[in-house]
Amino acid sequence: MATFEYAPAPESRAVVDIASSYGLFIGGQFVDSRGGSSFKSVSPSTEEVLAEVTEASAEDVDRAVAAARTAYSRVWSRMSGADRGKYLFRIARILQERAREFAVLESLDNGKPIRESRDVDVPLAAAHFFYHGGWADKLGHASLGPDPRPIGVVGQVIPWNFPLLMLSWKIAPALATGNTVVLKPAETTPLSALLFAEVCQQADLPPGVVNIITGAGATGQALVEHEGVDKVAFTGSTAVGKAIARSIAGTRKRATLELGGKAANIIFDDAAVDQAVEGIVNGIFFNQGHVCCAGSRLLVQESVAEAVETKLKARLETLRVGDPLDKNTDVGAINSREQLDRITELVQAGEDEGATRWSPDCELPANGFWFRPTVFTGVSQAHRIAQEEIFGPVLSVLTFRTPAEAVAKANNTPYGLSAGIWTEKGSRILWMADQLRAGVVWANTFNKFDPSSPFGGYKESGYGREGGRHGLEAYVRTGADG
Ligand code: NDP
Repeated sequence: MATFEYAPAPESRAVVDIASSYGLFIGGQFVDSRGGSSFKSVSPSTEEVLAEVTEASAEDVDRAVAAARTAYSRVWSRMSGADRGKYLFRIARILQERAREFAVLESLDNGKPIRESRDVDVPLAAAHFFYHGGWADKLGHASLGPDPRPIGVVGQVIPWNFPLLMLSWKIAPALATGNTVVLKPAETTPLSALLFAEVCQQADLPPGVVNIITGAGATGQALVEHEGVDKVAFTGSTAVGKAIARSIAGTRKRATLELGGKAANIIFDDAAVDQAVEGIVNGIFFNQGHVCCAGSRLLVQESVAEAVETKLKARLETLRVGDPLDKNTDVGAINSREQLDRITELVQAGEDEGATRWSPDCELPANGFWFRPTVFTGVSQAHRIAQEEIFGPVLSVLTFRTPAEAVAKANNTPYGLSAGIWTEKGSRILWMADQLRAGVVWANTFNKFDPSSPFGGYKESGYGREGGRHGLEAYVRTGADG
């Protein structure tokens, strides 16, 4: 397929000031660590060091939880919902005003294309604060149960795939319901959370309502295990989610866990093929496939499998892989060397187990972490690439003959986060959606997010919902709850 040549259209880095080093955001101020160390945040597209970031010590975690407790009992839990809402609206507006700065910073630190950080991550993050700001004074009317009240101090740990967006999924509902938070961003993507700390200052948020502590897994562990934390909210791998569930078992802590996925994107023979191909591309190559609900298993009805494969490959030849700050880029950098190694290992396993590997013929930049969009055909259900979360731009294609076979194959996974259905038949969509064990089922679309729509999983994809009225439930006590 012929493609246009585009001149580079890089977004300017000058819109964002990155400090050479960052402290921890505790009690409304950036403070130095007590006894912690530091690490570097690196741009995955160039391997350039962006900033030196603090690795919080156990004592720092203690201080952050204490600051959150003080803010909870003295200010935030006593404030009226209407007043809390004003702060959320203010934060949302500042995120919109500083959208370009956030988008550039996110693309630098994470490696995702500016087109996505600009058009998806940042607008959705602001939308989450607007949405939850609206609930703050209406919690008594949200069917949450009698007398909804905050839980207390929430420890929140988030991953590196949507750093600012995951922060907003965590912080907005917690604050709207009157809780205070200590949040730890992922080690490889801490910078947008630190810029968000500045937004909290700009919004005059009372000190201690939001605390941001940077660090690695040990800091996250110290946070979720801290006895001053009343609720844990975690998004990340199933392995760490299980470890967290074990560590808080038997305590009074509540938890919501949003974990991995291996979604089936199911194409029936009556689907509009060109639209479905766009949906397949969006499903697995959006954000380099670093998406828990990515459509990483393509299930195609056998009679159209060849046609879909041909069109898909032609479409993939047109994807532009490269500089995340270039507005023409479709696929950016892999977030870290560790993640690149993991993708490479699983792709090798796919080849070793006998599946057929294909990638478009695209050039990759010399520095940084990159992986070509990859499609495996001839995949069987037992292959590791059909079972394990690759979390990269790698699609496994399987076929089916009947709707019942599609359901059986789609549900043949330890996960249950999302699924996609492509068909012209409304009745089939409803029947399939009913059979699929997945928290979200998209029909004739994929990867659509809205703050009013609950998101979460079944089975090893975790428990609890985020977003919508259901997402509020995780952050309130009701009736006689202690
Ligand atoms: P992790 O689950 O390790 O990371 C998620 C967050 O948890 C990070 O902030 C991490 O800190 C923190 N963390 C790590 N260990 C602990 C712990 N014991 N207690 C509390 N917090 C902890 O994911 P990885 O980044 O290691 O990615 C590994 C794999 O997980 C990926 O290849 C992918 O398959 C999957 N994954 C799935 C995600 C999803 O949304 N479904 C998101 C991210 C990863 P730090 O970053 O500093 O290690």
